[in-house]
Amino acid sequence: MSIEMKPLPYDLNALEPVISGRTMEFHYGKHYKAYVDKTNELIKGTQFENASLEEIITFVAGKPEYQTLFNNAGQAWNHEFFWHSLTPNAQERQIEQELADKIKESFGSLDAFKEAFAKAAVAQFGSGWAWLVYDGDVLKIMTTSNANMPFKTDTLKPLLCLDVWEHAYYLDYQNRRPDFAKEVLDKILNWKFAFENYKN
Ligand code: MN
Repeated sequence: MSIEMKPLPYDLNALEPVISGRTMEFHYGKHYKAYVDKTNELIKGTQFENASLEEIITFVAGKPEYQTLFNNAGQAWNHEFFWHSLTPNAQERQIEQELADKIKESFGSLDAFKEAFAKAAVAQFGSGWAWLVYDGDVLKIMTTSNANMPFKTDTLKPLLCLDVWEHAYYLDYQNRRPDFAKEVLDKILNWKFAFENYKN
């Protein structure tokens, strides 16, 4: 058994003009594929051969001897979460009232959330990720570097993420990470996915 690439939940060009089909071709077909392939290469013939991505990450996180495996498995997991954090479907972009209320309670308003999220995404130095998480009883924004993620625990749940590695936006936005963040936040976030994560 090996880790398999999860299908992209929409067509490669479905997120245009915010994210081009060409970016997705590379991002999904090359970068994400490479993380999955490398993970499989690293687990072949080891104790992890039949483990799920989640099991691998849980076991190797924080253990320096498994850094390369963590990086690749972590990136595979983060990308799967990222594909689902975006949607071309207008219905999935609607925020459930319950979550909208929680956003208001946690950030003041949806606009204030977007502004704070974009600011955090832009401030993440180098490669990494920005996340909306449900932490205890409040929504928070956090960033992680490289392949790190806020992995689900009893009290912490990731709801949405934004990939801020340059490969996520460079073909479309070059160095303009703020524009990339703003476009994604305004136009293609999958709030239905966020709500499912919030409830589960
Ligand atoms: Mn990426």
